[in-house]
Formats: sequence, C-alpha cells, structure tokens
Amino acid sequence: MLPEHDQTEQLDTTPKGISRASTILHSGGLVAMPTETVYGLAGDARNPAAIAAIFAAKGRPAHNPLIVHVAGLDAALELAQLDPTARALACHFWPGALTLVAPLHAAHGLAPAVTAGLGTVALRMPAHPAAQALLAEFGGPLAAPSANPSGQISPTTPAHVMAGLSGRIAAVLDGGACPVGVESTIIGTDDTGRAVVLRAGGISPEMMADVLGYTPASTQSATITAPGQLASHYAPRATVRLNAAVPAGTEVWIGFGPDCAGADFNLSAKGDLAEAAAQLFAILHMADATGRPIAVAPVPERGLGLAINDRLRRAAAPREA
Ligand code: AMP
Ligand code: MG
Repeated sequence: MLPEHDQTEQLDTTPKGISRASTILHSGGLVAMPTETVYGLAGDARNPAAIAAIFAAKGRPAHNPLIVHVAGLDAALELAQLDPTARALACHFWPGALTLVAPLHAAHGLAPAVTAGLGTVALRMPAHPAAQALLAEFGGPLAAPSANPSGQISPTTPAHVMAGLSGRIAAVLDGGACPVGVESTIIGTDDTGRAVVLRAGGISPEMMADVLGYTPASTQSATITAPGQLASHYAPRATVRLNAAVPAGTEVWIGFGPDCAGADFNLSAKGDLAEAAAQLFAILHMADATGRPIAVAPVPERGLGLAINDRLRRAAAPREA
C-alpha cells in the first residue's frame, strides 16, 4: 500500500529543513533531494519498507536496482569492495556524477531490494551541498533513484518533482535547479578488471581516460535490465523525432547550437554540451507541455553529448504498452 500524503512538505536547505528531512528518512519516509545530476527520491537504504515505498511511489519494476548515495569513500568501503580501478575513479571523481558498481561485503546491511538481489551495489557520493548535508545529518546510506514516475522525464527542479510525485512522497528539499542535469555515469568492471561504461552520464569517457590510462568502452550488461537501460525511458507523452534539422508540421522544435535560430527551445544557443545537458530535461518538460510532437536537432556524439543522445534516443524509442 502506498502511504497517502495530503501534502508533500516543501523543505528548504537550511539546517532546519535538512534536520526535518533526516527525521522523515529515519522514520522510513521518502524525501526528494537535490543532487548535482537530477533530483533523487531518497529513502533509508537499510530499511526494507522505505525501499518498497520508493519502488511503489515511482511505479518502478522491482528487478531494477537503485543507486546508493554515500557521504564519502569510507562509507562506500563499509558496504562494498572497491578494486584499485574503482578507488582511483572514486578518488578523482567523488564527489560527483560517477556511480561505481562494486561487489557487496557479506554484512552490508542494505535492504535486499536495493540491489534487486544482486551481489553488487551501485554507489555514488553526490557533490550537491544539500545532498551532502542530508547524508551527514542522516548518518547512513540513502537509496535514491530519480524522483519521477518510472519511465518519465527526469526531474531537475522541485516543480518537476511535484508534477510527478506530489502527494506520493513525504517531502521535497528545494535546492534549486540541478547543475549537471543528466544522471551519473555508471561504471562497472569487465572480466579483465577494466572499467566499462554501463550508462553514459555526467562524466564523459574522455574525462576518465587520464585516470584510467584508457578510454572506457560502453557496454550493455546482459544481466541488468534496469529502467536507465531500457529502450524506452525518459519519455514525454508526445512522440519525439531525432536529428531534425528543421521541424515538420506542428512539431515543437528543440535546437542545439547557433544554426537553430528559429527553434522553439535551444538546448544551448552557443553549442555548449554542458549547458545542453543542464537544460535537457527542463526543456523536454516544457516542450511536452505544449502537447505537440517534439523534434530535436542533432547533438554531437562526444563528451556530454553521449549522455544527452542516450537520453534522447530513449525518449524517442517506441513505448511498450
Ligand atoms: P537510476 O534509475 O538513475 O537510479 O539508476 C539506477 C541504475 O543503476 C539502474 O538502472 C542500473 O542501470 C544501475 N545499477 C544499479 N545497481 C546496479 C548493480 N548492482 N549493477 C549494475 N547496475 C546497477
Ligand atoms: Mg531515472
């Protein structure tokens, strides 16, 4: 049963707001928290009822594991074993938009549903000051998938969270708009111990090359079929057409770069991929609100463009019933 909330509490990121959010989490409630990537729907990762509530509030399929947010490397090492490659990446990119999949310790204490029963866990230390403050105050690991109904566009503002989950969660912590705007990059290791990209995200493969000595390849894990990896995800209500150099018919046109002067929205008029990532979901929300079909201009397949195009392809993919 989904707990009914007459009202989702709106909290600010003052010590009082953080303290209230932590109290809710300790009692098994759910709080949408700002992170630098997107808003996360946080619950106590050790509390099975809280984790069940996350899956219920989102309508998320149970076989899809959640990312566990931790206060730092020490907290991560209490839960899982990080090999030298994972440690090097954590040292370099944490706090930040990088999630590491690592083997769980025997006495990890996490609710089994967090990892969908897998022997591994996905871990991240967020950089957003409000997320860090909440993790510090709460004093434990927080499971936090994106704070939106499963399959829909991810939230990068408190208003997006409320549009999707108002009345279904206890509170939202208002930290303004998320600066990175796309979810974290998820890194796993292959049989030979090399890092592989399980999901493109806020840290590009090129950014990891200096630390790793090679550019990690992308892979589709056969064993994990999770929402972030399903063909149709991040989906607006309208149809989405990609690589549209000009709009057709009634389409609302999302441009990228200076050549798209006539666009209804522009991900970045100056062609900056970081700006485009930060604006992506907000513009998809606004374009969808027009009720018209959506056309999107080409976005270069490099750097953060990999994550942007990944999300756009899933937004455009045919929906399952
Ligand atoms: P999100 O929906 O943004 O919270 O991202 C969660 C994603 O993390 C899932 O869709 C999986 O792709 C990935 N993930 C979480 N846990 C694991 C794991 N143990 N092994 C591999 N991927 C994982
Ligand atoms: Mg999501």
